[in-house]
Amino acid sequence: MIIFKKAADLSHHIASQACLSTDIGFVPTMGALHGGHESLIRLARKKSKIVVCSIFINPTQFNDPGDFEKYPVTLDADIIMLIEAGCDILLLPSVQEMYPQGTTQTQAFDFGHLDTILEGTHRPGHFKGVGQIVARLLDIVNPGTLYLGQKDYQQCLIIRRLLEITGRAGRTAIVIAPTLREPDGLAMSSRNMRLTIPQRVIAAVVYQCLVSIQSKQHADSFARVRKECMDLLQNKGLEPEYIALADADDLTLLEEYDPGRKMIALLAVRNGSVRLIDNMLLNE
Ligand code: AMP
Repeated sequence: MIIFKKAADLSHHIASQACLSTDIGFVPTMGALHGGHESLIRLARKKSKIVVCSIFINPTQFNDPGDFEKYPVTLDADIIMLIEAGCDILLLPSVQEMYPQGTTQTQAFDFGHLDTILEGTHRPGHFKGVGQIVARLLDIVNPGTLYLGQKDYQQCLIIRRLLEITGRAGRTAIVIAPTLREPDGLAMSSRNMRLTIPQRVIAAVVYQCLVSIQSKQHADSFARVRKECMDLLQNKGLEPEYIALADADDLTLLEEYDPGRKMIALLAVRNGSVRLIDNMLLNE
């Protein structure tokens, strides 16, 4: 695996490989890699001639400075995992490299409704930062395929919209890979390593809520199931930020189950100082 710290060096290297952009599979990450990230790299390895991963903790997408400061860094282990999973190129840039004009002089994209609901409401400015960094990374790597995790479902739709806004949709395809989970159902996340042991044990209830929302879709009302889940989470000492049902294609929020639509349940909870998000497609 070759590690590049400079965007121009990576671009030159790719140009020297005489490959097409369709040969390049790209997995952007913020590091502290786990099995979910590894699954994306392995999927890209199966499908693409050149696999590129980036590790960059993007300051502009953190609405909470404490979360940014405490974001885990496990670079040595990350590099070993990437080599074992078959990654060819790692981009490991500095903030200055990614934001040569500074973090305030950046382009803002209009994501419309997608940025005003759920994560957009609870993390103001978050998707603006995601848009900025992903647009910059795509310009550098120019991949034919971008591998993203369903775990960050709203982010997937934001990035899909970004590709449309930037005229890239015809050149870069998105593959959304399933969420990898721990044996008790907790979605793998870099932030999980910040949970204390009791918090980690309780965190499995997040998955149980999603399973309950899914399993009761033909037998109960969403409003009632949602209330049960709110109560369950609160009784376990978690603070739910939202539990929502939406159309899986465009994230139109739904008050009730609608079997005529492809639906997704999404939630965010605070577990101590750690914020957990997860989702589940209901009628795949
Ligand atoms: P992050 O490093 O958290 O920015 O995530 C980088 C990529 O990995 C994103 O596309 C995430 O959606 C994806 N990802 C994070 N957690 C998981 C998981 N548990 N399973 C699959 N993909 C994941």
